[in-house]
Amino acid sequence: MFRGRQKSLSVMSLVLMAFSVLLAGGLSEAGPKPKPTAPYIHRATVDESGEVTLQFTASRNQTHYEVRMGNAQRSTKIAQLGASSTSYSTKRLANPGELVSLFVRAVGQGGSADSNVVKLRIPAPRYTKPLATFPETGGYLGFGAEVSGKRHNGGDYKSTVGTAVFAVTDGVVVYSGSYEGFGSLNPSSKGGVMVIEHTNRSGGRFFAVYGHATPLVKPGVRVTKGQRIGTIHMFKNGGVALPHLHFGIYIGDRFPTSGWGYSSSLANWAEPKAYLDNNL
Ligand SMILES: [Zn+2]
Repeated sequence: MFRGRQKSLSVMSLVLMAFSVLLAGGLSEAGPKPKPTAPYIHRATVDESGEVTLQFTASRNQTHYEVRMGNAQRSTKIAQLGASSTSYSTKRLANPGELVSLFVRAVGQGGSADSNVVKLRIPAPRYTKPLATFPETGGYLGFGAEVSGKRHNGGDYKSTVGTAVFAVTDGVVVYSGSYEGFGSLNPSSKGGVMVIEHTNRSGGRFFAVYGHATPLVKPGVRVTKGQRIGTIHMFKNGGVALPHLHFGIYIGDRFPTSGWGYSSSLANWAEPKAYLDNNL
């Protein structure tokens, strides 16, 4: 019994010794792994759509990179990039108007090293889309289309019944109610429409027609950019269901009393998306 125990102890000592020698030999051969050098962000941009792009110089002794949001004390990883990467691009990093701090961390077997921290402001869109899916048309009637000798003075944007309609910018409601032709075509019936007086970025006045929607705002009230002002209702043409938003832009001091969907000419009317993109 005693001898057996002694024997097993000495075997164990030998194994431990051999392991120590192996470990020491291994370390002295490879040495400690070198720490990565710090990458450097030399270009950081954010475009109007909120897409952020970082370009950075490569680090040495790294196996991969992490793009992190925050600072050296507190950060969260938002992406992992391969060892050969030198750029990173993404959308929807933060809400419009927010300031974000970003840096790149080089990670290797010998540790990690952080780049400089860059700060970017996510731009706020200059206007709100009247429908979340604007300017998707789905093949509906476009701006300027000729129908029975008249011109379609707005754009038709495909939608579904119950969809929210938003004010593109601040304004005052000048008309809110029902109007002939906005409920159905062939036969014609009344439907919901709002006309809102807005101001463009040069201080100029324009009117926007939001048609085929049940109004949620009354005449005379002020609305703010992005406020929900109505709900898309059913629209039929010759019995065919085609719910959509008719959205028109009229530039002038006085909004006409008729011709809100079609008019004899396109004078004072503008292609909606181009107008918003260039003037708000
Ligand atoms: Zn229309």
